[in-house]
Amino acid sequence: MGEFDVIARYFARPARHAALGIGDDCALLQPSPGTQLAISTDMLVQGRHFFADVDPRTLGHKALAVNLSDLAACGAKPLAFTLALSLPNINQAWLAAFADGLFVLADAHGCDLIGGDTTGGPLNICITVFGEVPVVDGKSQALLRSGAQPGDDLYVSGTVGDARLALEGLRGQLSLPAAVLAAARVRLETPTPRVALGLALRGVATAAIDVSDGLLGDLAHLLERSRTGATVQADNAIESIAAYTAYTRATSQFVINLSKDQWRTLALAGGDDYELLFTAPPAQRAAVEAAALAAQTPVRRIGQIKREPGLTLVDAQGQTLPNHYQSFDHFA
Ligand code: ADP
Ligand code: MG
Repeated sequence: MGEFDVIARYFARPARHAALGIGDDCALLQPSPGTQLAISTDMLVQGRHFFADVDPRTLGHKALAVNLSDLAACGAKPLAFTLALSLPNINQAWLAAFADGLFVLADAHGCDLIGGDTTGGPLNICITVFGEVPVVDGKSQALLRSGAQPGDDLYVSGTVGDARLALEGLRGQLSLPAAVLAAARVRLETPTPRVALGLALRGVATAAIDVSDGLLGDLAHLLERSRTGATVQADNAIESIAAYTAYTRATSQFVINLSKDQWRTLALAGGDDYELLFTAPPAQRAAVEAAALAAQTPVRRIGQIKREPGLTLVDAQGQTLPNHYQSFDHFA
């Protein structure tokens, strides 16, 4: 089976939204009138972003999910994507499962695969997604990192820290009960891009970013672009994984013996969460709740934006905590 057979067999499907899909030198996209294209690329490298023996179905899901998460953070509606794939060999069972994981998520978001490139080499998956955002009265409705205002509330969607908990378990750094590892592993391997929430937050949120490298690190990017600072109530962010410990206590003889500091590290610096971190003025609290409800995605208020640059971490009693929670950096 050669390169063109792989494309024809596993990836060439009729485009349903694009003007022209796979098969020519270029694909053609026709964004709706009055919209801008939102474009983002993310690469997944074996050994760096996933283990060699990862289930190809979940890998197909995750490769697209991390890209859709960027569209979500911009409040963009997914349209299409391209796939550049480097494969060490042609393993048909692997390709079938990978394509299946990829297309199940793509179909759920009405996002067409419209092109790509296929080559031999170390396993490497690079996806570029295209989405659209309306322009109203000459103004883009995209959510940007740069819009946070002093006094805004800071929110995070869903749960943070679970993916890192799974990673620590899989690496043998933490000994996790099987049920906890299984639950956390779902979040590591099949993250849910918060596309519906991103769309619902257009016109409500002042700024947004998706949490890929760790909550505090990604927050620092948002603050830098917005030229503001923030106070974060550290323990408002850790509720999510705490749910697993409650589950464990109730159902198993095992208990995860983590310190508060370890919980905070997972939630604040864990990474791979693909949740949305966003800001909105207090006057929009009801609108944020309505957006969360419409998107069926829980959101949690975890802090405030302040004028003075810098990040202040406080505990439940309002006491300042030292911030030694480092985010992931590929070259650090
Ligand atoms: P070219 O050499 O003109 O760049 P290719 O021969 O690489 O084109 O690819 C042929 C067609 O298949 C193109 O439309 C390209 O976008 C598409 N394609 C190649 N690899 C993939 C892939 N992994 N997934 C989806 N489409 C692909
Ligand atoms: Mg090519």
